[in-house]
Amino acid sequence: MIRINEIIYNLSKNQLPSECNFVEAVNNISAEEKSLLFSTARNVCATSYDNRVFMRGLIEFSSYCKQNCKYCGLRASNNNAQRYRLSEEEILDVCESGHEIGFNTFVLQGGEDPYFDDEKIVSIVEKIKNKYPECAVTLSIGEKSRESYQKYFDAGADRYLLRHETASKKLYSELHPGMDFDNRVRCLWDLKEIGFQVGAGFMVGLPGQSASELYQDLSFLKELQPHMVGIGPFIPHKDTPLANENAGTLEMTLIMIAFVRLILPQALMPATTALGTIDPQGRESGVLAGANVVMPNLSPSNVREKYSLYDNKICVNDAAEKCRYCIERKINLVGYEIDMSRGDHSSRGRVNVCR
Ligand code: SAH
Ligand code: SF4
Repeated sequence: MIRINEIIYNLSKNQLPSECNFVEAVNNISAEEKSLLFSTARNVCATSYDNRVFMRGLIEFSSYCKQNCKYCGLRASNNNAQRYRLSEEEILDVCESGHEIGFNTFVLQGGEDPYFDDEKIVSIVEKIKNKYPECAVTLSIGEKSRESYQKYFDAGADRYLLRHETASKKLYSELHPGMDFDNRVRCLWDLKEIGFQVGAGFMVGLPGQSASELYQDLSFLKELQPHMVGIGPFIPHKDTPLANENAGTLEMTLIMIAFVRLILPQALMPATTALGTIDPQGRESGVLAGANVVMPNLSPSNVREKYSLYDNKICVNDAAEKCRYCIERKINLVGYEIDMSRGDHSSRGRVNVCR
């Protein structure tokens, strides 16, 4: 029987195991193997980033979305969703208070909201970059044309997060009515070619996903070589077609974080809020399995609850400052230091500062 240490050895030589070996090893992983996998992932991460965990400020600026992803509480068909938009001024205010408490990366995330056309996004990005030229701006606003991405980049946006969600074409089409996996992939390659630091990623525990589908995620990431990878458990939302499905497990999510760390040693990988939602120690465990980013929420408290991707999301009632220090304490307790710098991918340095 193929064992995890053989897979770790192969990955250290930049070789993926065969799908069959991966599936067998993951489905039969022992407690000792898991701890070997996680400690190897931690060591690989430390080679590039020591014991630093980067902190980014997340600004959830619109809960409107035209898409209908079956897992997501913001899907257009969810009539119970509470919709809101932050104004440009409100977004800039959030950046100002975030900057005062040390943030140097702002992640602007939202549903695919046609109200925020290219002109509005460009204006927001330009204003943030003019005011804080040393800070990084990350966008996470879904699928756009290459021309739109180019405009955001020219306005000064540094990074773009667009999870591929699942690399199984079949599962992708079941979960995303009206969307097309090939277009998602096109977006990711366009973003890379334009010069963004690009984040892909996937959910673990999606209904219909087994170790074979997760193998496809690894293989997709190996090919794309993104700078960032967001991996979190699927968590059901009560007003979606997947309301009665089981959530992904902490264990499988950690295993996938560790494998991705071995495949992409320099990647910036968040210990996600979703991980902290399924387990009170989820984010710390994520760091101990090879993650090296945390993204506390900076959004104003009156909108936080409305950005409801999944049920029981943590920290919806906490002020930004409280979240920032709470997560720092948690990370310190497991032996890591918070780094408030821009935290670029180690292949990049600070080259994007003065574009
Ligand atoms: N609209 C943008 C960004 C907002 S959604 C986009 O889709 O790219 C951000 C991420 O939330 C998605 O990529 C998805 O992976 C995650 N997400 C949505 N619903 C979720 C759920 N029910 N459980 C866990 N993660 C979820
Ligand atoms: Fe919209 Fe993103 Fe939710 Fe899909 S995952 S419905 S694109 S907010």
